[in-house]
Amino acid sequence: MPFSHHSHSGQFCAHAKDSLESCILQAISKNLRVFCLTEHMPRADPRDFYPEELELGITPQDEIERFAEFYKTAVALRDKYKEEISIFIGFEVDYVRPSMLSEIKKVQETYHFDMFIGSVHHVDEIPIDFSEELFNRAIEAVEAVDAGADIAEAYHKGTKIERFPQTQVTEAKGEERLFEVYFDTQYEMLTALKPPVIGHFDLIRLKCKDYKLDFQSMKNVWDKIVRNVKFISEYGGMVEINSAATRKGWEYPYPGPDILQLMKAEGVRFVLSDDSHGIAQVAFGYEKSLAYLEKQGVEEVWYYGWIGWERGIKDGILRPEDRYLPKIGPEFVETKSARVKDLRGIVPP
Ligand SMILES: [Zn+2]
Ligand SMILES: [Zn+2]
Repeated sequence: MPFSHHSHSGQFCAHAKDSLESCILQAISKNLRVFCLTEHMPRADPRDFYPEELELGITPQDEIERFAEFYKTAVALRDKYKEEISIFIGFEVDYVRPSMLSEIKKVQETYHFDMFIGSVHHVDEIPIDFSEELFNRAIEAVEAVDAGADIAEAYHKGTKIERFPQTQVTEAKGEERLFEVYFDTQYEMLTALKPPVIGHFDLIRLKCKDYKLDFQSMKNVWDKIVRNVKFISEYGGMVEINSAATRKGWEYPYPGPDILQLMKAEGVRFVLSDDSHGIAQVAFGYEKSLAYLEKQGVEEVWYYGWIGWERGIKDGILRPEDRYLPKIGPEFVETKSARVKDLRGIVPP
């Protein structure tokens, strides 16, 4: 009974495919027992729109309406398929600049969620996982902000880049410096939000020269990673084993072995995610993820369940009418663990 704690659908995300319902049906056919619906949060600033959204001429108001529609649809599907799969409703955070915090809080005040994913996709406001070109622009932006240069016009149409206040300036340059600022930004996100699930922890490696690099070889970067991991461990956050990396050419999911071992040593709990953006990606690469965990000596993963879900069992027979669906919210959700070896071979190829 594998699980995915991170998903998107083409119905509510311009860079994904397929309807939300077809993704859920695919998850059921792949034997998933838990599927978290975590659409990208609505963005209020067109500077943060994805290229596909800009092409479609989407406005911030469209974003708000689309997210409302997502939520409504998710609530209905959660009920419709409750016998087959446990659906949890959440969203994925973007953390582009300090003022984004109020946008996130607004989403959290408007809706009830079971959980959410804390992610960083930008450094100094430039997307770092979209293309090598943008990755390199992010390096330039970081170096320019460090130097105090006004690069605003070059990057954001006259708006000055807002860097997160706790970012430390160091002597490092190039990729190494980008890694530093990424993990400082992640720390800002972690301390501000304490996300229950942390998304693709080392996404910053995706477009770098060698994704297999060992961060322990960069003292400053490694210190920041250790700080972030210790913080996650302290507040009890769970980290995704995110198989999207394997469909983007990696041999293993996020996070890489250097970070995975550190997390293991710090007692961080892991959850499985496919980060699917359409049916073709649901449960993609799960055997690889599970084999990786086994090889790295991680024996258990965690997943969400509804508290009291099985309270309705009478005489050993579970009838649909005996099962009530708990309300949405972290207070109705519990975390349970499963053994990695028991999850092998369950997802059909
Ligand atoms: Zn996405
Ligand atoms: Zn993401």
